[in-house]
Amino acid sequence: MTGQMETLEFQAEARQLLQLMVHSIYSDKNVFLRELVSNASDALDKLRLESYADKDLDVDTSDLHIQLATDADARTLTITDNGIGMSRDEVVNLIGTIAKSGTAELLAKLKESKDRQEAELIGQFGVGFYSAFMVADKVTVLTRRAGQQEGTRWESSGEATYTVETVDDAPQGTSVTLHLKPADEEDRLFDYTDVGTLRSLVQRYSDFISHPIRMEVERTKDGETVRETETLNSMKALWARPRGEVTDAEYNEFYKHISHDWVDPLETIRLSAEGTFEYQALLFLPSRAPYDLFTRDAKRGVQLYVKRVFIMDDCESLMPEYLRFVKGVVDAQDLSLNVSREILQQDRQISLMRRRLAKKVLSTVKSLLDNDTEKYRTFWSEFGTAVKEGLVTDPDNRDAILGIASFDSTHDKAEQTTLRAYLDRMPEGQEHIYYMTGRSRAVVENSPHMEAFAAKGWEVLILTDAVDEMWVESAGEYEGRKFQSIAKGEVDLDSGTETGDKQDEEFSGLLGWLGEKLSDHVKQVRLSSRLTTSPACIVGDEHDITPELARMYRAMGQ
Ligand code: ADP
Ligand code: MG
Repeated sequence: MTGQMETLEFQAEARQLLQLMVHSIYSDKNVFLRELVSNASDALDKLRLESYADKDLDVDTSDLHIQLATDADARTLTITDNGIGMSRDEVVNLIGTIAKSGTAELLAKLKESKDRQEAELIGQFGVGFYSAFMVADKVTVLTRRAGQQEGTRWESSGEATYTVETVDDAPQGTSVTLHLKPADEEDRLFDYTDVGTLRSLVQRYSDFISHPIRMEVERTKDGETVRETETLNSMKALWARPRGEVTDAEYNEFYKHISHDWVDPLETIRLSAEGTFEYQALLFLPSRAPYDLFTRDAKRGVQLYVKRVFIMDDCESLMPEYLRFVKGVVDAQDLSLNVSREILQQDRQISLMRRRLAKKVLSTVKSLLDNDTEKYRTFWSEFGTAVKEGLVTDPDNRDAILGIASFDSTHDKAEQTTLRAYLDRMPEGQEHIYYMTGRSRAVVENSPHMEAFAAKGWEVLILTDAVDEMWVESAGEYEGRKFQSIAKGEVDLDSGTETGDKQDEEFSGLLGWLGEKLSDHVKQVRLSSRLTTSPACIVGDEHDITPELARMYRAMGQ
């Protein structure tokens, strides 16, 4: 039964994002193919996984594949998969709306941004399906969900509305037909109906997709034209190929495929383990933080494969939360294809693997620090704040994290310092690593607590990230030197003589009077050697929480 056609409106955010696509100034429009192929590949994986989980689902998973078909006269390109498909509701909800958190913020940023940044921001967001509208002025989706009888036809020209109708002749799976825009004079005239073009795009962007991407091609054989099916991709898993055989360009494309980033990664990490629990990992440090690094539901970027077969995205068991920005793939040989998140959480081998992966990431950053300062700086300015969370949550790696950390300091306004460099500069007589936390560099620098240290020429770390409050208290020491707040407790500035008993006596009247007047607000009033020009300052007890931390707890509702 073919139902009535309904016209629906895109959700407001979706409409805005679509507009950006339609008028995209992003020069590399070719990536639309990567996006649609990756959706098709996801749909094939989902069908396979669902057929494991649901034995009653009567589907054929013996020839999961993606098919490209073109019509040069009609100027269409169709990408078809025999995967999970979508129900009518799913089409409306998945294609008509954007459920991703942070969409509103992203769109607000896009409004302010300059043209060039626009593409970058969109890239970080991962536009997915909508990228079809960069090259098409109309898109038709025909889909039927596995296990359902009725199919759905969806169509839109990328403006405010789309149509949906129920159809009875849709094969299981999804086909997306792009009605290509007229070739633009200014554009680098790509003909997306040409086999050669598509072959090279697939090889460039989607070669490693683990399902075959097929296309009917015409060949001349013995003077006769024959049609035959060609598989355009090699389907080789990058992480399973010898390192020397894979080019940087291939790694970079793979990174973009799994991360939805549009720029190359900062660093590629490979790791493999043999023996009782075998696995290979191919990980990437991105060159920029994603827009949602600090939102509550920020995802972790590592995918789990079992024996080359995709199992799950965002596998939280593979990477600790403070390294959630690391992207990549882990392929384990000895897990069941049925493995679930719950099982992974309890698996001892998995937790060993996770520790090893985390250590490898940290040691990679260490080698950037030692060998490629510029890359290291980029890394730390993008991800340092997240990595520092590990000082609280991953005590095992505390020293490794402190070893790759950089901090603002009074030593140099422009450049951060490592703790190693801080220790190397420490003058004779200085015992501790001094720091002060605060909301901004200016606040800390102008604090009266700073005066005596400035006068003495003792360097003070300036810690302004909210997370600093959380770790620095419990960090204890680094290479035998204690972290000491300059705003708390007794600070020993070898001042015994100045604040000796004689002086205390001399000022006892004043101190007593002040103590009485301020008794509701302070515990004690005493002479201090901290100050050189300010008359007074407030000092916390050794174990008090700082005003910043108190503010943070309040903000968190505690
Ligand atoms: P993403 O892939 O990042 O989720 P997309 O915009 O690419 O975002 O796709 C949105 C959603 O639409 C997908 O998550 C998926 O649920 C659905 N979808 C897109 N293409 C297909 C397809 N070929 N088969 C089944 N579902 C699809
Ligand atoms: Mg997608």
